[in-house]
Amino acid sequence: MKLVLASNNAGKLAELQTLFAPLGLALVRQGDLGIPEAEEPHPSFIENALAKARHAARHAGSAAIADDSGLCVDALGGAPGVRSARYAEDHGQAKGDASNNRLLLEKLSAIVTMPQRSARFVCALVAVRSADDPQPLVAMGRWAGVIWPTPRGDSGFGYDPLMYIPELAHTVAELSPQDKNEHSHRGLASREMLRQMREVWGLG
Ligand code: IMP
Repeated sequence: MKLVLASNNAGKLAELQTLFAPLGLALVRQGDLGIPEAEEPHPSFIENALAKARHAARHAGSAAIADDSGLCVDALGGAPGVRSARYAEDHGQAKGDASNNRLLLEKLSAIVTMPQRSARFVCALVAVRSADDPQPLVAMGRWAGVIWPTPRGDSGFGYDPLMYIPELAHTVAELSPQDKNEHSHRGLASREMLRQMREVWGLG
């Protein structure tokens, strides 16, 4: 079965390919099929993931899965949240992970105690069998940590160098890809999604 991935984010794709390997599914990036990016106008991850999955399924004429995810920082009222990928751009700064991370550190510069720098990675996965599927599969994952005051580690993508996980005593960018997948918001959501795909779609 072909499953179109409604994202062109290389970091996400690499993680999802590994996480979905047990089903023997081929994840095809929507960009590789010439499908344009969907709008992400909604205030929640789940709404954006549903919109992205339907958009990809409509263009591809096949099943699709979308990941909408981001970082929610408590001291910033949940920001950058659904705007995580475009955080710096929204503030008139250069686009990209390095710029997003710089801005986040700047916003938190007055907050010095670690408990007040609490944050959560959130991942919403939505899978549809067709564009108008009346029974989308929905799985969520969350991963709590604190925002470290300087970047640490080279692995992963996005905000990984700033997200420190107290239980693991490392930032996410200091973890191996295997360790990240075992603990991460995306790992949790993917395992739940696999369970539902087996139960409802009869896969694997
Ligand atoms: P989306 O493509 O609109 O869902 O935006 C996802 C953005 O959230 C990414 O560009 C990253 O900035 C951030 N993000 C999501 N998941 C992760 C992760 O696992 N590690 C680090 N940053 C992440």
